[in-house]
Amino acid sequence: MRLSVRLAAAGFCLSACLCIAGAQQARIALRGTVVTPSGPVDHATVLIEGEKIAAIGTDPVLPAGTKVIETGGILYPGLIDLHNHVTWNVLSRWSSGVKSGARYDWQQLPEYQMALNVPHEKFVGEGHGCAAERYAEVKAIAGGATSQAGLYPADLTLSGQSTGPTTLQSNCLGGLVRELGVASRLYSEGASEKLRYEVFPLAIDPAHTAALMDGLRDHTINAAMFHIAEGASDNASARREFAMLQGRGLLLPGVSIIHGVALSRENFAVMAKTGVGLIWSPHSNFELYGSTADVAGAKEAGVKMAIAPDWSPTGSDGMLQELKYAAVWNATQAPAPFTDRDLFEMATLNAAELGGIADQTGTLAVGMRADLLVLEATAGGGDAYTQLVHSSSADVAMVMVDGVAVYGDAKLMQQARGAAATSIVKVCGEPKGIGFASAGTWPATVSELTAALARWGATLSPLTDCH
Ligand SMILES: [Zn+2]
Repeated sequence: MRLSVRLAAAGFCLSACLCIAGAQQARIALRGTVVTPSGPVDHATVLIEGEKIAAIGTDPVLPAGTKVIETGGILYPGLIDLHNHVTWNVLSRWSSGVKSGARYDWQQLPEYQMALNVPHEKFVGEGHGCAAERYAEVKAIAGGATSQAGLYPADLTLSGQSTGPTTLQSNCLGGLVRELGVASRLYSEGASEKLRYEVFPLAIDPAHTAALMDGLRDHTINAAMFHIAEGASDNASARREFAMLQGRGLLLPGVSIIHGVALSRENFAVMAKTGVGLIWSPHSNFELYGSTADVAGAKEAGVKMAIAPDWSPTGSDGMLQELKYAAVWNATQAPAPFTDRDLFEMATLNAAELGGIADQTGTLAVGMRADLLVLEATAGGGDAYTQLVHSSSADVAMVMVDGVAVYGDAKLMQQARGAAATSIVKVCGEPKGIGFASAGTWPATVSELTAALARWGATLSPLTDCH
């Protein structure tokens, strides 16, 4: 297939992009197999001008002076994680040793308090939230994510400073992943974020609930993610939560249910009818409850679904790892509910749609923000979708956000940025460059967290297991 589309208003964001890109050239072209909305295109080129995709095709016209990089790999839209608990991802894997009925069961265990809850509360209270956030950004990006939800500004205690997006961006965040709902970098400066994320939506006060509903109706809020029905599939208290959410009038377009393990097919029919999505986190579900959501039933009902890792203590280290977990589970089902392409879409386009950001990211197309994941191609590894769902962090060659190379192989980072990465980290035995935008560096982040966790008998979790 031959594609060649040039953006009519080429250079439309050049002045804004020059400062965002910093040292990086404002016009750059990446070559490889490009996974477009209509399918993978071999030997294709993505032309990036500033922070957006200006052309995609097998032979697009490249303006004179465009820097061309042969990646030799597969270019995907950056993965979008709508379910995480960002600052918890510095903590090691945890298991209570038994399967729980509902989330309230394990959350009251003394082992959970000692291994996760109290250490998290303490290191955040001591001001290490920004270091945890930076570490978790690298973990997310090593897993192929370019956007994630589940960062809480209250965890980022900055002594004497506000936790507004501008302050966070310059003094705290790593500047790698888009922190949806907090500092997504998707809206103009001063504009409100448009995504809401609630772990305990049934505990929010009536005024907050009313404001949320108004926001969804008048589109000042594009998306709201609610943890609901998190427990074993036959757990009565988890199952009850759907009726409670429905009773509060919160089944509205723009809402997505995170987990939904205990949802019935009747519930899915209501969700499909009201435009409510499902965010599936199978690894954490099986780990904690021994079962997962009836995704075959959700698919049959027509519920739009995304996939996300929850958090690394009981879920996956990142999006690639969660995709692989889901692909293996899927292959054990008869019939398998998903194709590999379905899983790819659940991590990209579907997630963008449920997150209310599909007009800006989630697909590789002209005019979209240049959020990309580049994987090394594996000979005989199947098509681009199969390779994605069976890859690991070892296969990540480069990640770009807003057209800026923020993570990847040192050589590609040097080529794309026109300068060395700001820090180097070893991932799966290979040195990877990180382009932290804030004052933090990798060695300082690791040593701060290692010391802070040691006081609670905890060790810093690995970035990824590399399998
Ligand atoms: Zn969660």
